[in-house]
Amino acid sequence: MSTLQILGYHKIGPPSPDAWETWYYVPTATFVRQMTQLRDGGWKVISEQTLLRALAAPESLPRRAVMITFDDGYRSVLHHAAPVLRRFNFPAMVFVPTHYIGGGSTFDANTREPVEPICSWQELHELEIAGICVESHGASHKTFSDLNATQIESELRDSKIDLERGLNKTIGFHAYPYDDPGRHPDQTDAALKQLGYQAAFRFTGGACAWPPANPFHLTRIPVWPDTDLSKELTA
Ligand SMILES: [Zn+2]
Repeated sequence: MSTLQILGYHKIGPPSPDAWETWYYVPTATFVRQMTQLRDGGWKVISEQTLLRALAAPESLPRRAVMITFDDGYRSVLHHAAPVLRRFNFPAMVFVPTHYIGGGSTFDANTREPVEPICSWQELHELEIAGICVESHGASHKTFSDLNATQIESELRDSKIDLERGLNKTIGFHAYPYDDPGRHPDQTDAALKQLGYQAAFRFTGGACAWPPANPFHLTRIPVWPDTDLSKELTA
């Protein structure tokens, strides 16, 4: 049994002028340090193609495999994370809620988390060109437990169709907004499978045993400004 360590980030770099620091912002210097820890620790950062292959053939997962993921598609991923990832030659994956493309993270407007710009279609294309694969985070960034089965299916279907049309590629992955697979996770899994998703990501749960018990609940390691990857990651 091997493991895949999937890192979960949100915002990279400084807050926008009207925003403020929170635990969801990882400063650029910290991000560079964490990427350095991956490189120096001999971790193998895998792409979505390698993930797809490993889902079909679990033994093909490289040793010390790591994935880098970002939720919400913040513009800061393009401006602050992408240049660093390029320098290290690391691929990554970003999950964007399609109703917010080109807008702001107003789904956070009633929380203590400041609203930040979300990538436009042009910026999502730039992420793809930079080796950061764009995938689904639903359409309206709703808590699935507040939705019925039909609404959940619409979130998964509409976001997939929009992203496939906008990016001219196949969408195979989903990350649950708020780490919430809904009140009936089995039904959500069935909808994901039926719509052609290959796997889905939780935000928490730690290192993911490989092969995964359920590909629609790949667990992740949330990364915060004080996360020391040399301690967090265990082969
Ligand atoms: Zn989110």
